[in-house]
Amino acid sequence: MYYLSADGRYRCRLLDELGWLDHGFGTRHALWQPWPLATLKQVHSDRWIYADGRPGRLGEGDALITDHPGLWVGVRTADCVPILIADPIRKAIAAIHAGWRGAAGAIAAKVVRGMQERFGSNPRELIAALGPAICASCYEVGPEVARLFRSWDATAGDGPAHLDLTGICRRQLLEAGLREERIAQSGLCTRCLPGEFLSYRRGEQEGRMLNAIVRKA
Ligand SMILES: [Zn+2]
Repeated sequence: MYYLSADGRYRCRLLDELGWLDHGFGTRHALWQPWPLATLKQVHSDRWIYADGRPGRLGEGDALITDHPGLWVGVRTADCVPILIADPIRKAIAAIHAGWRGAAGAIAAKVVRGMQERFGSNPRELIAALGPAICASCYEVGPEVARLFRSWDATAGDGPAHLDLTGICRRQLLEAGLREERIAQSGLCTRCLPGEFLSYRRGEQEGRMLNAIVRKA
């Protein structure tokens, strides 16, 4: 479902099928520099912002949605879950950064609701691709974080736990109304694959990889 392209980004075949968009999930070797690009000052929130066509940093938040042709919207990650969403009917798109704080605030579901309000999107038509992110066995969290996810992750109890952030985001998308067959997961762990990805948990606190999507002009 996911493959590495020559310019060092991963692509998802579910999104490739939509000829009106382009997209990618960055790696440490990505040569890809999408432009014009709108981004955010990412603050681990559950807030999305509508990109009105201007490139550059649009404000503080952790997801961008747009229907503006020719403008890439992107989020930067190193272990957190990047999610790219497309609405094939309205030709609207979204890029989401979901770490544990964003997942605890159900940012993926809030973006789906935002697309419903802003574009009239039907969640059943949306296509979502979850990109490379830290896997559950690499992602141990303390009891105070684990507690926040009891309703989303059956393995979260009273002690430290291994959180499946990607699985949690996927469940939130299903609950928001997306169909199972329209949600793709990369299965690629940023921490397990040091040759390919930057990982905050592995000690690479500075670098981030760009994940972005565009409605072509
Ligand atoms: Zn891993």
